[in-house]
Amino acid sequence: MARNKSEKAKADPNGAARPKPEFERRGISASPGIVIGTAFVRDAERISVPRTPVEPARVEVEVGRFGQALADTARELRALKADIARKMGDDHARIFDAHLLILEDRMLIDETAAVIRSECLNAAAAFDKVIGKFIASIAGIEDQYLKERTVDVQDVRKRVIRVLLGTDARASSRPTEPSIVVAHDLSPSDTAQFDRRTVLAYVTDLGGRTSHTAILARSQGIPAVLGLESLVERVETGDTVIVDGNTGAVVVNPTPATLDQYRLEMARFHELEEQLLTLTGYPAQTLDGRAFMLCANLDAADEVGSVLDHGGQGVGLFRTEYFFISQEYLPGEEEQYRVYRQVVEGMAGKPVVIRTLDIGGDKIASYLNRSPELNPFMGWRGIRFCLTRKDIFKTQLRAIYRASAHGNVKIMFPMISQIEEILKAKEICAEVREELKRDRYRYDEDVELGMMIETPSAVALADQFAREVAFFSIGTNDLIQYTMAVDRGNSKIAHLYQHLHPSILRLLRLTVEAARRRKVHLSICGEMAGDPLSVPILIGLGVDEFSVSPNVIPEVKRMIRSVTFDECRALLRRVSRFRTTAEIEGEIEAFVKSHVPTVLEPGRMGK
Ligand code: PEP
Ligand code: MG
Repeated sequence: MARNKSEKAKADPNGAARPKPEFERRGISASPGIVIGTAFVRDAERISVPRTPVEPARVEVEVGRFGQALADTARELRALKADIARKMGDDHARIFDAHLLILEDRMLIDETAAVIRSECLNAAAAFDKVIGKFIASIAGIEDQYLKERTVDVQDVRKRVIRVLLGTDARASSRPTEPSIVVAHDLSPSDTAQFDRRTVLAYVTDLGGRTSHTAILARSQGIPAVLGLESLVERVETGDTVIVDGNTGAVVVNPTPATLDQYRLEMARFHELEEQLLTLTGYPAQTLDGRAFMLCANLDAADEVGSVLDHGGQGVGLFRTEYFFISQEYLPGEEEQYRVYRQVVEGMAGKPVVIRTLDIGGDKIASYLNRSPELNPFMGWRGIRFCLTRKDIFKTQLRAIYRASAHGNVKIMFPMISQIEEILKAKEICAEVREELKRDRYRYDEDVELGMMIETPSAVALADQFAREVAFFSIGTNDLIQYTMAVDRGNSKIAHLYQHLHPSILRLLRLTVEAARRRKVHLSICGEMAGDPLSVPILIGLGVDEFSVSPNVIPEVKRMIRSVTFDECRALLRRVSRFRTTAEIEGEIEAFVKSHVPTVLEPGRMGK
């Protein structure tokens, strides 16, 4: 990776190492909290393959090394396959057969050996060249099956190259000690696969405040600053880093004075958190007595303790796809049932809204062998995926219905944009219930079905959808990206991602009105619900429920308990006349500051 050499520790003329100079960068504050720690620079995914000439006399040794690397990779894959067969059965383990076949492909082996010999090139570079050509050729073929094999070939490429370069795949891409993970980008599956005990904070060049990596960090209570542009090139593993997730500041190689200043900030922040936690036992009710459900968004079963500790009245959104993308194989019914049951029992009778698989977009499970899409967020995602992969959908629904026998479960469908989708999803639920009855499984007959309102089309048709479901949950993260045509994960245009934009407020109002008319319970589970500035507006709109990251619950509750419903309605009326986000934000900010002067960093969507 390119590094700015001038920033590495330099030796002075007497030989003593001079400290590296301190520098600060500002990014998007994606998850609150302040930490000081050691950097772990994660560059393993961008494997840069060095081109090293090989002495003609050593060419055959290099060809031999290549053969050995193929054998070692095959051994690694067979071990992985056996492990999965033990845990999941032979069917799941068979996904690695394709990888093993690629390793035996004569054309790949012979051509790579030929390149090593003819170009006197190191094996890693030769293999990369040959397999790169192969990937490009199958990507251009119209055959869907072949196209889908590209993912397997890519995986084999990475594995063989890592073996040749002597880098252990896992160890090089994940920290083993508690560290600040610094990366160019982190996909949701990268983030989901980290052992959270080893992550003090996330710092990335790319990403926006509602990217799924940011959301995961928030629900794990791990500070994060994203959108730092090219920070990764200026940090080295082992550097001391301060991450201030409240303000978006990242300080590298801090001086003792800066460290002292941030230690003070940390103490102040902890004190504020402690104060907020004293609200846990109180209701989420305005000063004039309007009560709201205050629930949590959950990304993993082991977050239930945090939901309860922070005073969550239920789970308003369980994003089940993180469980899928953190695995190396498709989880089966039993395995899913155990996870859902753990959450449902953990919540002890409190409502748990389990959202069916919202895979696609940036949430990709490599074992599903999907071919790359040009516009993944507008592609084969959420309910669209589930209605075509009915096998996966039904398995999940069976597991959810079975878990419903152990508590208070509701089922929610993501990415609905057409009425046919909700009708079809309901029909499949009915099928699943019949089958469970036939198989003599217990389940709750009254499980409510609901849907996300996260496409502009769902808002436009909200009155019709309201006839079909028991509840709505507004997913502002997607609703904003689809309405404003602003990719939620793109830091370059993060300033255009405005949740208080007049168009968004109008869509929210339309949804609330449709829900009211048909008495459909209305929750809001996008990140907007956890932004203290938005809370008075959402109160004024009259939503029934807020669902936010567990550690944000106390701050939202403080805001609800500091205002009256009437003044929030008046505020909403005032801002509805404005034409720009800046005017709206200005008005709300003044209102919020006058009610809660110590409001936490508002967590705005831009920098
Ligand atoms: C949303 O889109 O607002 C939402 C809650 O769903 P997700 O963030 O998982 O896309
Ligand atoms: Mg969404």
